[in-house]
Amino acid sequence: MARLQGKNVLITGASSGIGRGIAIRFAAEGANVGINYIGGPEGAEETARQAAAARQGAAGREMIVAADVSNEEQVQAMFGAFVKEFGSIDVLINNAGIQKPAPSHEMTAADFDKVLGVNLRGPFLCSREALRLFLQQGRGGVILNNSSVHEIIPKPKYLSYSITKGGMENLTKTLALEYADRGIRVNAVGPGAIVTPINASWTGDAKARAEVESHIPMGRPGEASEIAAVFAFLASDEASYITGQTLFACGGLTLYPEFRTAWASGG
Ligand code: NAD
Repeated sequence: MARLQGKNVLITGASSGIGRGIAIRFAAEGANVGINYIGGPEGAEETARQAAAARQGAAGREMIVAADVSNEEQVQAMFGAFVKEFGSIDVLINNAGIQKPAPSHEMTAADFDKVLGVNLRGPFLCSREALRLFLQQGRGGVILNNSSVHEIIPKPKYLSYSITKGGMENLTKTLALEYADRGIRVNAVGPGAIVTPINASWTGDAKARAEVESHIPMGRPGEASEIAAVFAFLASDEASYITGQTLFACGGLTLYPEFRTAWASGG
Protein backbone atom coordinates (compact mmCIF):
# COMPACT_ATOMS: atom_id res chain seq x y z
CA MET A 1 0.00 0.00 0.00
CA ALA A 2 1.39 3.45 -0.87
CA ARG A 3 -1.35 5.79 0.31
CA LEU A 4 1.23 8.28 1.63
CA GLN A 5 3.54 8.31 -1.39
CA GLY A 6 5.53 11.55 -1.53
CA LYS A 7 3.95 13.03 1.62
CA ASN A 8 6.34 14.90 3.93
CA VAL A 9 5.53 13.88 7.50
CA LEU A 10 7.02 15.16 10.76
CA ILE A 11 6.51 12.93 13.83
CA THR A 12 7.39 14.22 17.29
CA GLY A 13 8.82 11.89 19.92
CA ALA A 14 9.56 9.20 17.34
CA SER A 15 12.64 7.63 18.92
CA SER A 16 10.55 4.92 20.61
CA GLY A 17 7.12 3.38 21.10
CA ILE A 18 4.13 4.53 19.07
CA GLY A 19 6.12 7.30 17.34
CA ARG A 20 8.58 4.72 16.06
CA GLY A 21 5.67 2.54 14.92
CA ILE A 22 4.18 5.49 13.03
CA ALA A 23 7.50 6.25 11.31
CA ILE A 24 7.83 2.63 10.19
CA ARG A 25 4.26 2.44 8.92
CA PHE A 26 4.42 5.78 7.11
CA ALA A 27 7.71 4.82 5.45
CA ALA A 28 6.15 1.55 4.33
CA GLU A 29 3.37 3.62 2.73
CA GLY A 30 5.87 5.79 0.83
CA ALA A 31 6.14 8.94 2.99
CA ASN A 32 9.27 10.99 3.70
CA VAL A 33 9.50 10.93 7.49
CA GLY A 34 11.03 13.42 9.91
CA ILE A 35 11.84 11.64 13.17
CA ASN A 36 11.95 14.09 16.08
CA TYR A 37 13.74 13.13 19.29
CA ILE A 38 15.02 14.60 22.52
CA GLY A 39 18.27 13.58 24.22
CA GLY A 40 20.71 11.23 22.48
CA PRO A 41 20.11 10.31 18.81
CA GLU A 42 20.43 6.51 19.20
CA GLY A 43 16.68 5.80 19.45
CA ALA A 44 15.87 8.05 16.49
CA GLU A 45 18.64 6.43 14.44
CA GLU A 46 17.16 3.01 15.20
CA THR A 47 13.71 4.27 14.15
CA ALA A 48 15.25 5.56 10.90
CA ARG A 49 16.91 2.18 10.27
CA GLN A 50 13.66 0.31 10.79
CA ALA A 51 11.69 2.80 8.68
CA ALA A 52 14.20 2.51 5.82
CA ALA A 53 13.95 -1.28 5.97
CA ALA A 54 10.14 -1.10 5.90
CA ARG A 55 10.24 0.74 2.56
CA GLN A 56 11.39 -2.44 0.81
CA GLY A 57 12.86 -0.40 -2.01
CA ALA A 58 9.96 2.07 -2.29
CA ALA A 59 10.75 5.78 -2.66
CA GLY A 60 11.17 8.17 0.25
CA ARG A 61 13.69 8.84 2.97
CA GLU A 62 14.12 9.59 6.65
CA MET A 63 15.70 12.43 8.59
CA ILE A 64 16.21 12.71 12.32
CA VAL A 65 15.80 16.06 14.02
CA ALA A 66 16.35 16.99 17.68
CA ALA A 67 14.01 19.35 19.55
CA ASP A 68 12.28 19.66 22.87
CA VAL A 69 8.70 20.19 21.69
CA SER A 70 7.98 22.45 24.65
CA ASN A 71 10.75 24.88 23.62
CA GLU A 72 9.61 27.50 21.09
CA GLU A 73 13.05 28.19 19.58
CA GLN A 74 13.88 24.51 19.23
CA VAL A 75 10.49 23.82 17.60
CA GLN A 76 11.03 26.61 15.08
CA ALA A 77 14.52 25.32 14.32
CA MET A 78 13.11 21.80 13.87
CA PHE A 79 10.56 22.98 11.29
CA GLY A 80 13.29 24.96 9.54
CA ALA A 81 15.49 21.87 9.28
CA PHE A 82 12.57 19.71 8.14
CA VAL A 83 11.57 22.08 5.33
CA LYS A 84 15.21 22.51 4.29
CA GLU A 85 15.45 18.74 3.89
CA PHE A 86 12.07 17.92 2.31
CA GLY A 87 10.99 21.28 0.81
CA SER A 88 7.51 21.38 2.41
CA ILE A 89 5.29 19.68 4.99
CA ASP A 90 2.06 17.74 4.45
CA VAL A 91 1.44 16.03 7.80
CA LEU A 92 2.38 16.84 11.41
CA ILE A 93 1.96 14.17 14.06
CA ASN A 94 2.00 15.44 17.63
CA ASN A 95 3.03 12.21 19.32
CA ALA A 96 5.56 13.17 22.03
CA GLY A 97 4.13 12.76 25.51
CA ILE A 98 5.15 12.10 29.09
CA GLN A 99 3.50 11.28 32.38
CA LYS A 100 4.59 11.95 35.96
CA PRO A 101 2.27 10.08 38.31
CA ALA A 102 1.75 11.09 41.93
CA PRO A 103 -1.20 11.41 44.30
CA SER A 104 -2.68 14.76 43.34
CA HIS A 105 -2.12 16.24 46.82
CA GLU A 106 1.58 15.45 46.48
CA MET A 107 2.11 16.46 42.84
CA THR A 108 4.73 19.17 42.52
CA ALA A 109 4.03 22.28 40.48
CA ALA A 110 7.26 21.65 38.55
CA ASP A 111 6.14 18.15 37.48
CA PHE A 112 2.67 19.46 36.62
CA ASP A 113 4.17 22.20 34.44
CA LYS A 114 6.56 19.75 32.76
CA VAL A 115 3.74 17.41 31.68
CA LEU A 116 1.61 20.29 30.40
CA GLY A 117 4.65 21.67 28.62
CA VAL A 118 5.39 18.51 26.64
CA ASN A 119 1.82 17.24 26.15
CA LEU A 120 -0.06 20.48 25.41
CA ARG A 121 2.33 23.41 24.85
CA GLY A 122 4.33 21.16 22.52
CA PRO A 123 1.37 20.28 20.28
CA PHE A 124 0.37 23.98 20.24
CA LEU A 125 3.85 25.14 19.20
CA CYS A 126 4.26 22.42 16.57
CA SER A 127 0.71 22.89 15.22
CA ARG A 128 1.28 26.64 14.93
CA GLU A 129 4.44 26.14 12.86
CA ALA A 130 2.73 23.51 10.68
CA LEU A 131 -0.31 25.75 10.14
CA ARG A 132 1.87 28.68 9.08
CA LEU A 133 3.54 26.45 6.50
CA PHE A 134 0.25 24.89 5.33
CA LEU A 135 -1.17 28.38 4.76
CA GLN A 136 1.96 29.55 2.90
CA GLN A 137 2.01 26.43 0.75
CA GLY A 138 -1.70 26.82 -0.05
CA ARG A 139 -2.51 23.14 -0.51
CA GLY A 140 -3.97 22.23 2.89
CA GLY A 141 -2.46 19.74 5.29
CA VAL A 142 -3.10 17.29 8.10
CA ILE A 143 -2.41 17.52 11.84
CA LEU A 144 -2.83 14.37 13.93
CA ASN A 145 -2.59 14.29 17.71
CA ASN A 146 -1.74 11.28 19.84
CA SER A 147 -4.31 11.57 22.59
CA SER A 148 -5.42 8.70 24.86
CA VAL A 149 -8.47 6.98 26.30
CA HIS A 150 -7.71 9.39 29.14
CA GLU A 151 -9.08 12.13 26.91
CA ILE A 152 -12.43 10.96 28.32
CA ILE A 153 -11.61 8.52 31.16
CA PRO A 154 -10.27 10.10 34.37
CA LYS A 155 -6.99 8.65 35.65
CA PRO A 156 -6.40 9.09 39.38
CA LYS A 157 -2.78 9.85 40.34
CA TYR A 158 -2.16 11.02 36.75
CA LEU A 159 -3.90 14.38 37.07
CA SER A 160 -1.54 16.33 34.83
CA TYR A 161 -1.59 13.60 32.15
CA SER A 162 -5.41 13.38 32.21
CA ILE A 163 -5.70 17.15 31.94
CA THR A 164 -3.44 17.22 28.90
CA LYS A 165 -5.34 14.49 27.10
CA GLY A 166 -8.67 16.15 27.93
CA GLY A 167 -7.19 19.37 26.57
CA MET A 168 -6.10 17.58 23.43
CA GLU A 169 -9.73 16.97 22.53
CA ASN A 170 -10.35 20.70 22.36
CA LEU A 171 -7.00 21.40 20.71
CA THR A 172 -8.12 18.99 17.99
CA LYS A 173 -11.66 20.31 17.66
CA THR A 174 -10.79 24.00 17.83
CA LEU A 175 -8.04 23.81 15.21
CA ALA A 176 -10.25 21.59 13.04
CA LEU A 177 -13.04 24.17 13.08
CA GLU A 178 -10.73 27.15 12.64
CA TYR A 179 -8.99 25.78 9.53
CA ALA A 180 -11.59 23.45 7.97
CA ASP A 181 -12.28 25.90 5.14
CA ARG A 182 -8.62 25.95 4.11
CA GLY A 183 -8.21 22.24 3.40
CA ILE A 184 -6.55 21.52 6.74
CA ARG A 185 -7.83 18.47 8.64
CA VAL A 186 -7.09 17.99 12.36
CA ASN A 187 -7.84 14.71 14.10
CA ALA A 188 -6.64 12.65 17.06
CA VAL A 189 -6.10 8.99 17.87
CA GLY A 190 -6.98 7.75 21.35
CA PRO A 191 -4.93 4.65 22.17
CA GLY A 192 -5.78 2.35 25.08
CA ALA A 193 -3.02 0.40 26.84
CA ILE A 194 -0.21 -0.10 24.33
CA VAL A 195 3.05 -2.03 24.78
CA THR A 196 5.64 0.79 24.74
CA PRO A 197 8.35 2.16 27.08
CA ILE A 198 5.86 4.55 28.75
CA ASN A 199 4.19 1.42 30.19
CA ALA A 200 7.41 -0.28 31.33
CA SER A 201 5.95 -0.56 34.84
CA TRP A 202 3.61 -3.36 33.73
CA THR A 203 4.60 -4.63 30.28
CA GLY A 204 7.56 -6.63 31.60
CA ASP A 205 5.90 -7.96 34.75
CA ALA A 206 3.58 -10.95 34.21
CA LYS A 207 1.40 -10.27 37.27
CA ALA A 208 0.98 -6.55 36.57
CA ARG A 209 0.34 -7.26 32.90
CA ALA A 210 -2.40 -9.79 33.71
CA GLU A 211 -4.03 -7.20 35.97
CA VAL A 212 -4.03 -4.64 33.14
CA GLU A 213 -5.35 -7.20 30.67
CA SER A 214 -8.23 -8.11 32.99
CA HIS A 215 -9.62 -4.59 32.49
CA ILE A 216 -9.44 -4.62 28.68
CA PRO A 217 -12.54 -6.06 26.96
CA MET A 218 -10.42 -7.54 24.15
CA GLY A 219 -8.20 -9.17 26.81
CA ARG A 220 -4.85 -7.83 25.59
CA PRO A 221 -2.89 -4.61 25.25
CA GLY A 222 -2.37 -3.13 21.80
CA GLU A 223 0.82 -2.94 19.74
CA ALA A 224 2.36 0.26 18.40
CA SER A 225 1.75 -1.03 14.87
CA GLU A 226 -2.01 -1.20 15.54
CA ILE A 227 -2.03 2.48 16.52
CA ALA A 228 0.22 3.44 13.60
CA ALA A 229 -2.34 1.90 11.22
CA VAL A 230 -4.99 4.31 12.51
CA PHE A 231 -2.66 7.28 12.05
CA ALA A 232 -1.92 6.15 8.49
CA PHE A 233 -5.62 6.00 7.69
CA LEU A 234 -6.32 9.44 9.17
CA ALA A 235 -3.33 10.96 7.33
CA SER A 236 -4.40 9.50 4.00
CA ASP A 237 -6.94 10.80 1.51
CA GLU A 238 -9.20 7.93 2.56
CA ALA A 239 -10.04 10.13 5.57
CA SER A 240 -10.59 13.19 3.36
CA TYR A 241 -13.96 14.08 4.94
CA ILE A 242 -13.01 13.50 8.60
CA THR A 243 -11.96 16.41 10.80
CA GLY A 244 -12.19 17.30 14.50
CA GLN A 245 -12.54 13.68 15.63
CA THR A 246 -10.77 11.39 18.05
CA LEU A 247 -10.68 7.81 16.86
CA PHE A 248 -10.24 5.51 19.85
CA ALA A 249 -8.17 2.36 19.28
CA CYS A 250 -8.37 0.76 22.69
CA GLY A 251 -9.63 -2.81 22.60
CA GLY A 252 -12.93 -1.61 24.06
CA LEU A 253 -11.58 0.34 27.04
CA THR A 254 -13.92 3.25 26.34
CA LEU A 255 -16.97 0.96 26.53
CA TYR A 256 -17.38 1.08 30.33
CA PRO A 257 -15.96 -2.47 30.78
CA GLU A 258 -17.30 -2.78 34.32
CA PHE A 259 -20.75 -3.05 32.75
CA ARG A 260 -19.83 -6.30 30.95
CA THR A 261 -21.93 -8.17 33.47
CA ALA A 262 -25.44 -6.94 34.10
CA TRP A 263 -24.84 -6.10 37.77
CA ALA A 264 -26.60 -2.77 37.53
CA SER A 265 -29.90 -4.00 36.08
CA GLY A 266 -30.16 -7.42 37.74
CA GLY A 267 -30.66 -9.05 34.29
P1 NAD B 1 7.24 6.52 24.71
O1 NAD B 1 7.72 6.94 26.05
O2 NAD B 1 7.95 5.44 23.99
O3 NAD B 1 7.16 7.77 23.72
C1 NAD B 1 7.15 9.11 24.11
C2 NAD B 1 8.20 9.82 23.27
O4 NAD B 1 8.13 11.23 23.53
C3 NAD B 1 9.63 9.36 23.60
O5 NAD B 1 10.27 9.01 22.39
C4 NAD B 1 10.25 10.58 24.24
O6 NAD B 1 11.63 10.70 24.00
C5 NAD B 1 9.48 11.70 23.57
N1 NAD B 1 9.53 12.96 24.32
C6 NAD B 1 9.37 13.15 25.65
N2 NAD B 1 9.53 14.45 25.95
C7 NAD B 1 9.78 15.09 24.79
C8 NAD B 1 10.03 16.43 24.45
N3 NAD B 1 10.04 17.40 25.38
N4 NAD B 1 10.27 16.73 23.14
C9 NAD B 1 10.28 15.79 22.20
N5 NAD B 1 10.03 14.48 22.46
C10 NAD B 1 9.80 14.14 23.74
O7 NAD B 1 5.72 6.12 24.93
P2 NAD B 1 4.53 5.97 23.88
O8 NAD B 1 3.54 5.10 24.52
O9 NAD B 1 5.01 5.65 22.54
O10 NAD B 1 3.91 7.46 23.89
C11 NAD B 1 3.66 8.20 22.72
C12 NAD B 1 2.36 8.95 22.86
O11 NAD B 1 1.29 8.01 22.97
C13 NAD B 1 2.27 9.84 24.10
O12 NAD B 1 1.67 11.08 23.77
C14 NAD B 1 1.34 9.06 25.01
O13 NAD B 1 0.63 9.88 25.90
C15 NAD B 1 0.43 8.40 23.99
N6 NAD B 1 -0.30 7.26 24.51
C16 NAD B 1 0.36 6.11 24.85
C17 NAD B 1 -0.39 5.04 25.35
C18 NAD B 1 0.25 3.74 25.75
O14 NAD B 1 -0.43 2.90 26.36
N7 NAD B 1 1.52 3.49 25.44
C19 NAD B 1 -1.76 5.14 25.49
C20 NAD B 1 -2.40 6.33 25.15
C21 NAD B 1 -1.65 7.37 24.64
